[in-house]
Amino acid sequence: IITTQAAISLENAQLYNQLTSYSKTLETKVKLRTEELEFAKDAADRANQSKSEFLSNMSHELRTPLNAILGFTQIMMRDSNLSPDQQENLDIISRSGEHLLELINDILDLSKIDAGRITLQSGSFDLYSLLNTLEKMLGIKANHKNLELIFDLSPNLPQYVCADANKLRQILINLLSNAIKFTHHGGITLRASYDTPFDVELDTRSYWDMTHEDLTPPNSSTQNLIKFEVEDTGIGIAPEELEDIFEPFVQTKTTENFVEGTGLGLAITRKFIDLMGGEIKIRSQLNQGTTVTFRLPVTLAQAEETQVAIPAKRFIKIDSDQNYRILIAEDRIESRHLLVKLLKPLGFEVQEAADGQSAIELWERWSPHLILMDMRMPIMNGYDATQYIKRHLKGQATIIIALTASAFSDDRSVILSAGCDDFLGKPFREAVLLEKISQHLGIRYIYEETTSMLSEPPSGTSALLSPADLGKMPSDWIQALYQAANQADSDTLLQLLQEIPLDDRNLANALQRMVENFSYDQIITVTQVEG
Ligand code: ADP
Repeated sequence: IITTQAAISLENAQLYNQLTSYSKTLETKVKLRTEELEFAKDAADRANQSKSEFLSNMSHELRTPLNAILGFTQIMMRDSNLSPDQQENLDIISRSGEHLLELINDILDLSKIDAGRITLQSGSFDLYSLLNTLEKMLGIKANHKNLELIFDLSPNLPQYVCADANKLRQILINLLSNAIKFTHHGGITLRASYDTPFDVELDTRSYWDMTHEDLTPPNSSTQNLIKFEVEDTGIGIAPEELEDIFEPFVQTKTTENFVEGTGLGLAITRKFIDLMGGEIKIRSQLNQGTTVTFRLPVTLAQAEETQVAIPAKRFIKIDSDQNYRILIAEDRIESRHLLVKLLKPLGFEVQEAADGQSAIELWERWSPHLILMDMRMPIMNGYDATQYIKRHLKGQATIIIALTASAFSDDRSVILSAGCDDFLGKPFREAVLLEKISQHLGIRYIYEETTSMLSEPPSGTSALLSPADLGKMPSDWIQALYQAANQADSDTLLQLLQEIPLDDRNLANALQRMVENFSYDQIITVTQVEG
């Protein structure tokens, strides 16, 4: 027994020694690993930090030139001698610029989506107007490739809905741009219709076989679905590649080498649709074409709830005889000139400074009522210049509006705490800038309202056309259209629409919608011949 006991304690001692040595090794390993992890975490934090800085800088660099593009477009739009064609071209430049701006914001949003920081911004809007704008914008792209772009809007499509309009616009732009990019012959059709979850489940007929009565929108309190379908006759996607197509950075074998793109469009699209509570599906056949279908829940809205775009105003001058001095502190010459050209003709006295130091000097010498202060400037930045000015009694009376192209709204509080009275993100709209100036200086403007074919219809009406839009058509055709509408003769009306030249598809579509909606009164209004 003693021998056995001795053997056991020896074994135990050996085991103990072994265990202690294991535990020491383990401890060292854990320590090393912890250090490695801490190091990796630091590196990741640093990388994240530089990513944020990179995004902030990039957005600044992109927004600043865009500010000049959009701003000078607005200045040119003021010219009342422009022909309708020129006006329309400027409208397109302006809208495309605004779209570019939204894209920049979306790139920033992508990083926010991943960080779970993106939210829905729902509001009431005019869906027809949104689609109309997209049709014009993307129609140009399609025309360049000799492709037909058809917007087929079901008569039951509600005009005013409540949803996240910006995300919807982005989704449609992504899908339609893809369709145009990957199609070389034929065309692209966007179909949009009102849908209900139960009708779709129970009814085996395809949507397009249903009658108008089946599809009448219900009352405005119900949640409804809008179904969109983007169909193209393009290169298609192979079945094995369809599965991953919504993953970030995925591009098909056929396309990866020859077209520009990031492979992010569909990923963002799906994330947006998920966030909005909808669903998306894709069907495709190689060399035949692709159809992307998505449904989104919306609430119906009334015209009055819709934020109608501020009517285009042509500001003529300030409604005051007093001299108002405005100092523009901005390092970029083109941004400075833009502001001078916007403000001088209205009757403001304007001086310019290219950095914070000269802004302070001019403020001391010239005592401006208001300073438009760029926040990033060489020598002395806008924060320091503002703090300096606001430290003085005289500075308390000077209104300072910060101009910034930074994408991060967090910067807003920093700007206000520097002493600025207000804040304007670049690129800004002329009307918003002038509103802010008027609000702070307590002045009013004399202005003239202008109209343009592309502008929003007045709230409460669905008239998308004005008599001027028929200007290109011969007068006997207009007369015939008027007669047919007066007799509610839809067959003749549709026949007459066939005569509209192909390049005036917007006119044809708008009239077609009126015929489909039985809105003969609107046709009568736009075709009414005087006398
Ligand atoms: P991008 O177009 O920038 O590459 P997307 O995420 O929008 O990124 O699309 C990913 C890929 O899916 C495209 O590169 C293309 O290979 C394929 N794809 C998307 N839409 C279509 C389409 N309508 N027809 C054919 N292929 C498409």
